[in-house]
Amino acid sequence: MPYASYVHAGQNRVGRVDGEWLIPLSWLTELGRDTTIEALAAAQEIPGDAVRVSDVHLRPVIPQPDKIVCVGLNYHAHVGETGRELPTYPVLFTKFASSLIGPSDDILLPPESTQVDYEAELAVVIGRTGRRIPYEKAYDHVLGYTVANDITMRDYQYKTHQWLAGKAWDHSTPLGPYLVLPNEVDLSAAEVRTVLGEEVLQSSDTSHLIFDIPTLIAAVSEFTTLLPGDVILTGTPGGVGFRREPQLFLRDGDEITVEVAGVGRLTNRVRAETVTAG
Ligand code: MG
Repeated sequence: MPYASYVHAGQNRVGRVDGEWLIPLSWLTELGRDTTIEALAAAQEIPGDAVRVSDVHLRPVIPQPDKIVCVGLNYHAHVGETGRELPTYPVLFTKFASSLIGPSDDILLPPESTQVDYEAELAVVIGRTGRRIPYEKAYDHVLGYTVANDITMRDYQYKTHQWLAGKAWDHSTPLGPYLVLPNEVDLSAAEVRTVLGEEVLQSSDTSHLIFDIPTLIAAVSEFTTLLPGDVILTGTPGGVGFRREPQLFLRDGDEITVEVAGVGRLTNRVRAETVTAG
């Protein structure tokens, strides 16, 4: 049973996805801080208020996470293409809630960057508060999974050795379309890929993760409390545009698809940002 955060008739709602329909859940306005594992399981559906997916605006599936923790260099092939050493501890950086966009929103190309790149990623959503979560108990804290395109402005990422400025642009990062519960997906070797036009730009699977999901949850929760609705982006495989020959960056009018088999697919248009200062 996948779930979505959406807007319909001016109201923020959470719905269970049933084919082409969304069946709203009472009381919940979005997936996030209030949607613990127990709260989501106990939520009552309102079948009489069901709406078609095509009639709503899908929000980022977690619209306002307290934390978005991202992992860099977490697939062997991607580390290889960057020419770096294999990490012995996860490379972590963050994005902000303002970085997120919904499944049908446009990815904005800011005029300041000429190197806007894609990264297909599996995203983990937390459903139970925890600090210093042991590896063995990490999956008990997972609410579900979704898909992210970790859009990256490479020219800003590499201005300094901190990646933040290349990773946390407003309105850049699609997250969704749905939250998929752990018992409904097999992530032992789920394909992760990016498609632009007819061309497959990234194709790998989750068996190639250097740091697996429990390791990431244990590592992050060692230093900060993970809360319901927090999101962990698990890293991208090889094939990013910056490392291709010739390099490939997103352009106005592109349509870029990232997908994780069994979890979901995001297709977003790319559009030059109209700038208003201040
Ligand atoms: Mg990434």
